[in-house]
Amino acid sequence: MAFRHNTEIGQNFLTDKSVAQWMIGRARLSPADRVLEIGPGTGILTKYILDAGCARVDAVEIDVRLKEYMEPLAASDDRLRLHWDDAVKFDYSRLDETPTRVMANLPYHITTPLLWHLLESFAGGDMRYMMLMIQDEAASRIVSGAGNRESSPMSVTIAAAWQAAVLRKVPRTAFYPSPKVDSAIAEITLRCDSYAPLPRDTTWRRLLSGSFAMRRKTLVNNWAGAFGVKKDECAGILAAHSLDTRSRPEGLTLPDWLSLREDPTLTSYIERRR
Ligand code: SAM
Repeated sequence: MAFRHNTEIGQNFLTDKSVAQWMIGRARLSPADRVLEIGPGTGILTKYILDAGCARVDAVEIDVRLKEYMEPLAASDDRLRLHWDDAVKFDYSRLDETPTRVMANLPYHITTPLLWHLLESFAGGDMRYMMLMIQDEAASRIVSGAGNRESSPMSVTIAAAWQAAVLRKVPRTAFYPSPKVDSAIAEITLRCDSYAPLPRDTTWRRLLSGSFAMRRKTLVNNWAGAFGVKKDECAGILAAHSLDTRSRPEGLTLPDWLSLREDPTLTSYIERRR
């Protein structure tokens, strides 16, 4: 019987092989690489990854109906390990070896929670490269860094430790069934080991989520609401970092965020609110 795609869990399978070839060409896998693939589906990308000659592939897929496609592939290549689980909740420390790279055509609905989970799980380890095919708009938000209207807790955290860029767009016609929007391929490469553990830093995470709670409002308003910082004290904290009371979260640079993380008054408010 023909496979019935469940688009509610992002089952828009890649049908344009030239896109998979392009991804593999760009990723330049080495024979030592251990690749984590999220959502292998019927294995189109998995086959190219294996053919590229890496050491192993761990693939995490939630839909057990896809065993029919993936198990024969794993039976014919012992470098491929299948994990039938939810990639957002999966305990990646269960893998025999830490992956060096993540490659995925992601189910769109889990992009943000999955990315946080991957960044937390692999912080400071061997994983130094991610190539993710995601919704076009989500890709540009993730790589936007700090200091612009697309900035978010995720983009600021990525900018602290990673080099992130959108490499190319992929039209919706490259998938079956076609999604409603186009996709893009984002490449995220570790550039600063010392900030890689930030995703696990709860004070950092709360600083960002509280500051961006109402993104068009000032930090004074956001900090009062999220952390209970008195407004006159906000002014003092901001002044100590050369910021003024009109500052909004999307106007702060990465050095601003990193220096606010070290502010003793602000962090004591954040930590008291836990
Ligand atoms: N890699 C295949 C391709 O390129 O054609 C499939 C990509 S499709 C966009 C996303 C895949 O992720 C589907 O196979 C879907 O079943 C799977 N998936 C959805 N939610 C998931 C989750 N929470 N954990 C693991 N896999 C998931």
